[in-house]
Amino acid sequence: MRTLIHRPHLRRDSLRARRRPTDSVNRSAETTPARSPPRPATTAPETKWTGMETRGQAEEWNEIRLEALLSGLPDVGRALLKCDGADHPCLLPICAVCALAYRRGPIAQLHALADAYEGPHEVATLYLGLFPPGSLGDADVSRTHEMLRKRLDRAGFKGAIVVGGIEVAWQENWQRWLLHAQVLAIGVDPRAWKRLEVALEKSGTAYPVDPVALRNPDEQLSYCIKFVTYHRPGRRRVPLPPDRLVELAAWCAPHRFEDFLFAYGARRRGGRLVVDE
Ligand SMILES: [Zn+2]
Repeated sequence: MRTLIHRPHLRRDSLRARRRPTDSVNRSAETTPARSPPRPATTAPETKWTGMETRGQAEEWNEIRLEALLSGLPDVGRALLKCDGADHPCLLPICAVCALAYRRGPIAQLHALADAYEGPHEVATLYLGLFPPGSLGDADVSRTHEMLRKRLDRAGFKGAIVVGGIEVAWQENWQRWLLHAQVLAIGVDPRAWKRLEVALEKSGTAYPVDPVALRNPDEQLSYCIKFVTYHRPGRRRVPLPPDRLVELAAWCAPHRFEDFLFAYGARRRGGRLVVDE
């Protein structure tokens, strides 16, 4: 039962290719085609994409969070209350309104990368760590970047581009936090995915490495950069229990949104993702 990693509601057989045939993944190939030189990046869409919440929804989500945060983490709760997301943004990762504004930039960058480089193009959920309730504070964001970079190096990802978000999901049924990355992966050798999977086979999750072809970039790339405070004990999204919401808010409060952006084979420069030479 694939309950261990939360994932976009995308069924492989329901996906339709959007663009050129090179978008499709060829996991069976003996060798992976080398990444081709960048073409001039096409302009990433600036309007709202499938998979993006509206401003109204983001405000509603903040409303739902407020009660628990005002009593459990008053400073953060008050910052959310005062945040207008525009002239006086709180810039807290737990704020749905500020998250909505932040996400547009990196999601556009992912689109630009996917458009500029030949594939294979995939999105993947990558296991990073498990934390019991009350211990999320032990998850060190900057060390997590380093750990993932090393794991990718060791598994043979050199030459590939892996970019996306580090995030945490509450797994109610297991009573644990799952720290993971949700990434766009370009030009990954199928053998490298396999090596990474083997390296993580004792992770305690059934699918520590879960790549799928990029077939619906609007939805799948939006999903790579998000700051969620819901969980899915069943099929439906439900808000986090108040104590877990407070724990999550306390964990991410010292961070900026950008701290959760992971980039391998590329780096952030002046708000843009630049691919390593
Ligand atoms: Zn805010």
